[in-house]
Amino acid sequence: MVVKEGLVMAKTRPTQLHVRGAPVGAEGYVIHLCRCPECKSDYQKYGENARERRRNCPWKPVHIHGTWSGYSNYACRCERCLSACRKTYDYAAGWREVNREHLAERARDYRAKS
Ligand SMILES: [Zn+2]
Ligand SMILES: [Zn+2]
Repeated sequence: MVVKEGLVMAKTRPTQLHVRGAPVGAEGYVIHLCRCPECKSDYQKYGENARERRRNCPWKPVHIHGTWSGYSNYACRCERCLSACRKTYDYAAGWREVNREHLAERARDYRAKS
């Protein structure tokens, strides 16, 4: 980062306002995408890194349900996420079955190279 001489940096960043109508805390952060200090700090206590936070947080964003991401990234085990998981597994198994030759060939190439 290049800091120009004489450039005065703002000492305090303006505090973000809480999203109107959203509950304060992790729920506000996750569901209503509020990034005010209260919601942020409440959300942060759910884990150290983003992945842990997503998995530990009891509030899952609505749009993730019924997707593979909901199952794997958010560790949601609701009916819709479970069925998405099953579908993905079936799809992956089917794909491997169809591309069996291709995969075997690739594995041979890989072994030959290394
Ligand atoms: Zn907030
Ligand atoms: Zn779910």
